[in-house]
Amino acid sequence: MTTVGVLGGGQLGRMLALAGYPLDLRFQFLDPDPDAPAGRVARQIVGSYDDPKCLQSFVSGVDVITYEFENVPVELARRLEQSCPVYPPPAALAASQDRLTEKQLFRRLGVPTASFAPVGSASDLDNAVAECGYPSLLKTRRFGYDGKGQYLLRGPEDRTAALAALCGAPSILEGFVDFDREVSLLAVRTRDGVVVSYPLVENHHSEGILRLSVAPAPHLSSRLQDQAERHARRILDELEYVGVLAVEFFEQNGRLIANEMAPRVHNSGHWTIEGAATSQFENHLRAILCLPSGPTEIARPCAMINLIGTIPEKRSVLSVPDAHLHLYGKAARPGRKLGHVTVRADTESQLRERIDAIRAAL
Ligand code: AMP
Repeated sequence: MTTVGVLGGGQLGRMLALAGYPLDLRFQFLDPDPDAPAGRVARQIVGSYDDPKCLQSFVSGVDVITYEFENVPVELARRLEQSCPVYPPPAALAASQDRLTEKQLFRRLGVPTASFAPVGSASDLDNAVAECGYPSLLKTRRFGYDGKGQYLLRGPEDRTAALAALCGAPSILEGFVDFDREVSLLAVRTRDGVVVSYPLVENHHSEGILRLSVAPAPHLSSRLQDQAERHARRILDELEYVGVLAVEFFEQNGRLIANEMAPRVHNSGHWTIEGAATSQFENHLRAILCLPSGPTEIARPCAMINLIGTIPEKRSVLSVPDAHLHLYGKAARPGRKLGHVTVRADTESQLRERIDAIRAAL
């Protein structure tokens, strides 16, 4: 039996395990949280990522290692690679953990980005503003997620407060993109370099947290899809990537501008469980296990609504036609992702009605 080792035991890991059981895969998770969502459905070693004993028992008996959060220490991934294949490659982790190296990679590969400049000190900010102008966003280079570690500079009057808010952390200034919408692409590259992609998804955020993904993105043209796939392909090939990669874009006047990437299965791909011919979780597993990718088509319009902070009553959500509820087994806390609902429909307008019905049930 093949055993997949997963660093991190959050909901992404849990959904990976659930997708792997029909393929008769076994899972072993490493996560310091004894209540980690994946630990409810699979074997979990409860321990820290720098405890040699935990790491030893994690590695023993696993055939391949993957991860489900992108802040896995790169050094750890490289060390584990000595005993077992690690996918996606640690180089992808290194590139995506730092917003500056990530944007530099995009730029080097000809993937469009917002204007950007590094900010290490107050004096750098002047040069960075000269490059990016106002409005612009000052973001910490590392450990920023869901809009955390970001400060909007509307003009020179915001300079001091922005620097104070980021407490001297190495940062990047980015020109503010007045985008038409946000979309993301989930692409899968296998160990023999074959790439398949899901249709682009339209994403809606509030307070920096993803709330809703609509698949396919309404009015999706083949031109836009091709653009996204071309950009993703460059990144995947450059990194000799294996597994699912999510690339988030801003769409502005029909042009895609890359914001960031995640070297893992992604929240904007949860709809694939019921909405696509093969889920992102299964395709990630297939890729890292040297198996062919499954088809990525969508049969009907589909949406995913995140459950943030509170868990709705099951009956009211499930009484919406073709709604599917996923709960992650986490304790409720404000701002926490506790689950999601996927809903499918025959038409875009019916989908809109069903999204509204689910929102009313929350
Ligand atoms: P991030 O942490 O980079 O994913 O940013 C969180 C959210 O902030 C994004 O989903 C956008 O809605 C917004 N945002 C980030 N960067 C920019 C930018 N350069 N211009 C405009 N909006 C941005």
